Amino acid sequence: MQVSLLDLKAQYATIKDEVLAAVSEVLESQRCIGGPKVAELEEKIAAISDSRFAVGVSSGTDAILSCLMSLDISTGDEVITTPFTFFATVGCIARIGAKPVFVDIEPKTFNINPEFIEPAVTEKTKAIMPVHLFGQMADMDPIMEVANKYNLAVIEDAAQSITSMYKGRKAGSIGTAGCFSFFPSKNLGGIGDGGMIVTNDEQLYNRMKIMRNHGANPKYYHKFVGGNFRLDPIQAAALLVKLPHLDEWSEGRRRNAAYYDKKFAGTFVQTPYVSSECVTIYNQYCVRVPRRDEIVAHLKEKNIGCAIYYPVPIHLQECFSYLGYKEGDLPEAEKAAKEVIALPIYPELTDEMKDYVADAILEVENI
Ligand SMILES: *Cc1c(COP(=O)(O)O)cnc(C)c1O
Repeated sequence: MQVSLLDLKAQYATIKDEVLAAVSEVLESQRCIGGPKVAELEEKIAAISDSRFAVGVSSGTDAILSCLMSLDISTGDEVITTPFTFFATVGCIARIGAKPVFVDIEPKTFNINPEFIEPAVTEKTKAIMPVHLFGQMADMDPIMEVANKYNLAVIEDAAQSITSMYKGRKAGSIGTAGCFSFFPSKNLGGIGDGGMIVTNDEQLYNRMKIMRNHGANPKYYHKFVGGNFRLDPIQAAALLVKLPHLDEWSEGRRRNAAYYDKKFAGTFVQTPYVSSECVTIYNQYCVRVPRRDEIVAHLKEKNIGCAIYYPVPIHLQECFSYLGYKEGDLPEAEKAAKEVIALPIYPELTDEMKDYVADAILEVENI
């Protein structure tokens, strides 16, 4: 048997005709930039995120970048974030000239540990950027408390957590703004790159809409330096077809997770912890295991796809050596980087496939 980490063809087969029709509609209209599809998607994503406003952008990365730019964060400012995330979170902070300040994670959830945030606040701190990793939201209440105390913006990197919940509140709706990605491997994935920012702040919303068009308002009159951060209508069209399925797909992932949880109960495999305050969407199902690299090799042999999210915490990346972090500075993030492994969790997996994956891992104990 072969089980890949993600099988997008399985999902596409169920919606192919609708996607083709929706894309064709855009092509026939030749409204290739902006237009009604983008506006409709923005309205719908704002609604499912319990947010007043949404701005479609070119990727999750550009969502974060244009949000930071719209908040006027720049050279000399500091942004507190987690080292255990996809590179984009931190890359965007650095690209605008600000300094990423890392605090360690909670080992159970892999998310930023709010306890460490306040001690990291300085006069230069402008924002906190929690990441809702693998589909589960960070502990937002204590994060918002620190933010309110020091008047800091909170940008939720919700790229992996659209519709995820914390104490009944949706990802992206608690902070100053929330950033989503429609990268094909996310729960709501486009047919290419795409992203969106949600916010309840009308002023910020208006700024972000101008920011994605080179800061022009009206056209050719530039209020500030923005970029081309626009969402393609072809992406919006495909996403509008997929959106009605999002909850059922996330539910499928939760069902698969429960299946694995049962298979791994009482074994050496440490299954993902889900806080009782959260509803996760399992963008990834990441377990912790000893002898991780042996397991990866064994899974490869058995034609099972898996991935390491993430093998090197961001504070130890070569490009950030100028920040002066060294091994041992953020021990929980470093430990997680050595122990995690993401298993196939996509909704179309059969029980037979899940058994094959779980049994292959459990076999390693006897090798
Ligand atoms: C996917 C992802 C991004 C970037 O999104 P793109 O659409 O690929 O640019 C940012 N942060 C996190 C945590 C992600 O998982």
